[in-house]
Amino acid sequence: MSVSIVSARLPTGDTPVCNVTLEPYVLIKRGETTVTADDIPEEGSPEPGLQLRSRWYRSSIPRGGAVCSVHPDKEASVQCTICLKSKVAVHLSYHCTAECFRSSWQQHREYHRQAHANGQENGLDTPGSKVVSSTMSAGGETWVEVSRSRKYTPASDDVGFVLKYECSICDAAHPYIDLGRPMLAFTSRVRPAPNLPVRNLVPLPLPQGVAKGGPNSRFTVLSYNMLADLYAKGDVYNHCPAWTMAWHYRKRNLLKELLTHRPDIMCLQEVQSDHFSEYLHPELTKAGYMGIYKKKTTEIFTGSQYTIDGCATFFRCERFHLVKKYEVEFNKAAISLADQMTNPHQKKATMNRLLKDNVALIAVLEMAPDPERSSKQLICVANTHIHANPELNDVKLWQVHTLLKGLEKIANSADIPMLVAGDFNSIPGSAAHSLLVKGRVEPQQLESSVDPLGLLRDTKLQHSLPLASAYAALLDHPPTTEQLKRQRARLDPTHREPLFTNLNRDFKATLDYVLYTRDSLAPAGLLELPAEAEVVAKPGDSLPNANWSSDHVCLMAEFQILQHKA
Ligand SMILES: [Zn+2]
Ligand SMILES: [Zn+2]
Repeated sequence: MSVSIVSARLPTGDTPVCNVTLEPYVLIKRGETTVTADDIPEEGSPEPGLQLRSRWYRSSIPRGGAVCSVHPDKEASVQCTICLKSKVAVHLSYHCTAECFRSSWQQHREYHRQAHANGQENGLDTPGSKVVSSTMSAGGETWVEVSRSRKYTPASDDVGFVLKYECSICDAAHPYIDLGRPMLAFTSRVRPAPNLPVRNLVPLPLPQGVAKGGPNSRFTVLSYNMLADLYAKGDVYNHCPAWTMAWHYRKRNLLKELLTHRPDIMCLQEVQSDHFSEYLHPELTKAGYMGIYKKKTTEIFTGSQYTIDGCATFFRCERFHLVKKYEVEFNKAAISLADQMTNPHQKKATMNRLLKDNVALIAVLEMAPDPERSSKQLICVANTHIHANPELNDVKLWQVHTLLKGLEKIANSADIPMLVAGDFNSIPGSAAHSLLVKGRVEPQQLESSVDPLGLLRDTKLQHSLPLASAYAALLDHPPTTEQLKRQRARLDPTHREPLFTNLNRDFKATLDYVLYTRDSLAPAGLLELPAEAEVVAKPGDSLPNANWSSDHVCLMAEFQILQHKA
């Protein structure tokens, strides 16, 4: 039976990154059927018969200039001369600008310190640098073999070089006889591993009269819009290098970020349905989480399948179990609102305006038993992604109002601390934000520009939940530490919210919030807010980039459960 390789491809070969495994996709024709590499044993396996022989090589010539060691999506223009004299890995010596070099000097000098662990460093304490000239020597390329397995994980030695994959079919019994021509596939140059965000939890002083409880009376909640892959395509993000936008690149960074913060509860938005089932759910299950998911109500065809994004809520099984979940489809509420209308024109206009497929996911969780607590402790967590169109403020406001009315019902039936988290697509000071944190909308916020169809004219826009925004707590205490002072400066004092949670081209604003009921919970810590300069290489740049893999930054708060008057 004839066997030949039809093709060998590297699906992620255009974006090879240090520490990210490359898996060639090899099609093989065996007689009349076509099989993949998974159906043929690798060379050296004990199975007799035909085997797939794989070789990986690294080019001896660095390609396309070097990249910044801090911002892997930027070309290097500066190289540290101390690194060159020391035995620091070459790729660590590059920076995109002199400013980048200066601002990362604290971290950079650690490389020198490590290289000079034997104490040779003599007073070389100021950064010296030279301008990089990118050289390309022509011809005479040699290739160094780096692996004999099908899958290969680029290491730091590979950074800046291209890789070549070569495969052929061999017969285990006659390993020296070639069976047909080998097939080749090349990668682009290997990128350095990203420098993922480092953000600490800043402890907050507790309100007066609130005693610090044990670890079982505290928990952390994170909210993160992860930028679904289906929205990461097309023109909107064409200013970002394509490889930083690739889902296989972003998904690892996003997961790593989640696992670094290791929140007790995660409210995630823009989680694509197939990415939930194929990646996030299995990976977070391995890490001890349980997850529930609610996808938006209309799917779209992406060229290979129908998919859509939605809200995913995960919680640590060690700390919580799920008592009840409610799936909120705002479309259902829109239909029941329209059903009450008698005027057919009004009915139609309402449906057109309000049918927008957004959802929310509400989970009632019970905390693991605690000897210090006599009764069981429930927590209600609402996770939502409100409609995005900036022109439709009435729709946003109506969705937020609908969600809060649902939560009010739950609150009326049980004495239960509540969390409301997500991407509300509403800026601080907007009508929707006001409804959340003040419990009502001021009449002047309901101008005709907000409610052109008068849909909300007859609705009493208020609720009784004592909600407060977690990050506002930074302004509730005098800043006793440098860290608190720095964090306060990253808040807008008027609206008591972060300066930004979303950084897009031409748009920098806060859209995400973590809210809590202040009669039952008190913020005890907040995940540091980054300054813009820590997120992008230069002002005006936008997200995502090589290090920050969503266009939003996540928020996280630690809460202390307030012990109630018995
Ligand atoms: Zn250096
Ligand atoms: Zn840089």
